[in-house]
Amino acid sequence: MEISRCSTLRGISASPGVVIGKIFVLHDELHVPRYSIHTEQVDAEWQRFRQAAEHVKQKLVEISEQLRGGMDSIGVDIFQVHTLMLEDPMWIERIRHEIEQKQFNAEAAVVNVGEEFIKVFGSSDDRYFTEKVADVRDVIHHLIYHLTGHERTHLADLDQDTIIVAHDLTPSDTAAMRREQIIGFATDTGSRTSHTAILARSIGIPAVVGLGNITEMVQTGDPIILDGNRGRVVLCPSEEELLRYHEEQVKFLEFERSLDVFRDQSAVTLDGHQVRLAANIEFPDEVPSVSRYGAQEIGLYRTEYFYIGREDLPTEDELFEDYRYVAQSLDPHHVTIRTLDLGGDKFAAHLGIPSSVNSLMGLRAIRLCLKYPEVLSTQLRAILRASAYGNLRLMFPMISGVEELREALRIYKEAQSSLHEKGIAFDPDMEVGAMIELPAAAVTADILARELDFFSIGTNDLIQYSLGVDRANEEIASLFQPFHPAVMRFIRYTVEAAHDNGIWVGLCGEMAGDPVFTLILLGMGLDELSMSPASVPEIKRVIRSISLKEAQAITHEAMQLATAWEIESHMWEEALKRFPELLNWDYRV
Ligand code: PEP
Ligand code: MG
Repeated sequence: MEISRCSTLRGISASPGVVIGKIFVLHDELHVPRYSIHTEQVDAEWQRFRQAAEHVKQKLVEISEQLRGGMDSIGVDIFQVHTLMLEDPMWIERIRHEIEQKQFNAEAAVVNVGEEFIKVFGSSDDRYFTEKVADVRDVIHHLIYHLTGHERTHLADLDQDTIIVAHDLTPSDTAAMRREQIIGFATDTGSRTSHTAILARSIGIPAVVGLGNITEMVQTGDPIILDGNRGRVVLCPSEEELLRYHEEQVKFLEFERSLDVFRDQSAVTLDGHQVRLAANIEFPDEVPSVSRYGAQEIGLYRTEYFYIGREDLPTEDELFEDYRYVAQSLDPHHVTIRTLDLGGDKFAAHLGIPSSVNSLMGLRAIRLCLKYPEVLSTQLRAILRASAYGNLRLMFPMISGVEELREALRIYKEAQSSLHEKGIAFDPDMEVGAMIELPAAAVTADILARELDFFSIGTNDLIQYSLGVDRANEEIASLFQPFHPAVMRFIRYTVEAAHDNGIWVGLCGEMAGDPVFTLILLGMGLDELSMSPASVPEIKRVIRSISLKEAQAITHEAMQLATAWEIESHMWEEALKRFPELLNWDYRV
């Protein structure tokens, strides 16, 4: 069936807001010309490659300079790695061989050698080599774009009001994405809890993901309307649509402004029950947004970003500086630092861990850290050292049971002893918690609670693992049912187990920042909700408008219901009674 290029596409709302701009298609398919050359053409072909390599290197240096100006160290690291690759003598020698001996054209030589390297690196057991795969791919792309005369506009060179359209986003894309010109993005793949979506919310730009094949329907420069509230994009919009969405944009901005008053108020119910509202952050430069939106603390500092886009592992000192900055900035308020949670959709593709071990059920998060304990102990020492400068908490991701937890705690104790022996200060009473994001952890929460100070429920993963539905796969997005009775029961049981054992329990999955879930989470008795900073004012408004008693009664009714659909309808009905405008902004998990 021919789909009109001027249609409205429905996807999944990943980050709210309405924007109108021009498309930039990232990663259009590359055509690689392949042909043999004559002996007399060899020199010219070799020069063509040398010039391309020089040009790309120059371009990458310029980009990293621009990013350095913007203090974006993650981006700078990625581009420096790429520049180094272009100078690697072994790689250059192999390309010369392909051109001189085998008499291939420069594009074919680059791809042949690139593929060889990818194969060798990808199958290596050594992490240093497997990490290089994504970099090799990026460099091949840059070279082919230049050699074929299709200069690849880089994200750092974009015009104002650009909306990125891509199949999915790579780490170097996301690192460069945090620039003012980019006002939104739309992708073929992904779901609301995929990492790309979480990133969009953390940067605070509207996004729609899971659009299927938008990349095949648009071209760079086309006008587009992106409606992150309803998960829609309008391609080649009419005058009338532009006008209508412009009004929507104004209305949404007014709605956001109306929430300003809640920023400085506390999250307390009508009958005086206080809930702690915290922020999830991914980058240290998000720290100012925590207080700007009125969050009381950081409930989840995802630490993965420090480990991507680089060839080596971060040193203890580098990590320490980063954690100390965050700890000091928030002091006396708490910051919960989660240990490394790599794997699944969190950039393991970039790390080059073979896909067989990189599945959602594979070597991820705490499992990866326990297999490479030195990675974990380095991070733990850095966290401990930073704990002397503020109020830190420590949290382990993806804990499946007590044995795993004890192993992580053993490494933690060792990290404490090694600092103690060297006379380095740390907070010996730092609270230690675990994320409850596997069904196994939820049903053994009573046992885990005896060995911990707190829980934080990671519903993004808890939903995917309890329902067996990949959180990042748009094709089964309708099966990703946060209101499924199984999920609701896991949450309720975890809260009860925590409280029965005298520890507090928070929730830091995406549902914490979605107003449709607030009543049921309140009714279940969660002590803390941690979310994207920008969601805090609205969740405060919901909490301040109801009594705990009423929320408990609504939750009690919901927990008697048999299906996800029934629970969801019940909660929508109750929410809409109080906040009819929710219907206008029906972005949600
Ligand atoms: C979760 O799984 O709910 C969570 C907060 O962690 P992440 O999204 O980083 O996996
Ligand atoms: Mg998780």
